[in-house]
Amino acid sequence: AIIDELTQVFVRHHFLERLEEEVKRSVRFKLPLAVLMLDIDHFKRYNDDFGHLVGDATLKEVADLLKKNLRRVDLVGRYGGEEFVVAMPETKLANAMEVAERIRSNIARHDFQVYNDKTKVTVSQGLEVFEVDETKEPAQTDTKAIVADLIQRIDEAMYKAKEEGRNRVCIYKDMKKTS
Ligand code: GH3
Ligand code: MG
Ligand code: MG
Repeated sequence: AIIDELTQVFVRHHFLERLEEEVKRSVRFKLPLAVLMLDIDHFKRYNDDFGHLVGDATLKEVADLLKKNLRRVDLVGRYGGEEFVVAMPETKLANAMEVAERIRSNIARHDFQVYNDKTKVTVSQGLEVFEVDETKEPAQTDTKAIVADLIQRIDEAMYKAKEEGRNRVCIYKDMKKTS
């Protein structure tokens, strides 16, 4: 299966294959490629409070909100239980930052219906933009290594967003400057 049954986004393996294709395009045509990792905050507690079935419905709704804020060309994958990954082709950092921030605020504002109650969830995100360095010749072409690197970086940035208080976007490049 290439589509995750619950959330209707790509399964991890397929997402990574498609991401590698985008990296190749990005290298060949010297286009920026933004990648994002997103994790629901305190979701264990959410499940404990409302039950696993409600958790599933909320997970599905988060995926829907994510897709609503993206273009058709963007790729969305379920990376782990309550973790999603996004790839935005031809997208520079400033633009990607706007998208990530819009996703963050739309999810934070959203009322997740639970029986007769409304609940809230927030997400933490890690962001990185891949761009070929034209000053370096030849351009890096080990696309598998680039993908692994990108995933590692957005994962690190996402954990930083958690550390800094959750419900926020952390950019990998900013992280490196301050540490
Ligand atoms: P943090 O803010 O640090 O991310 O805290 P957290 O509780 O979200 O993180 P943790 O990794 O401890 O727990 C993730 C939880 O997500 C645990 C698991 O029960 C829940 N989860 C993962 N996949 C699913 C799923 O498919 N359905 C439901 N309902 N819950 C899931
Ligand atoms: Mg979580
Ligand atoms: Mg998690």
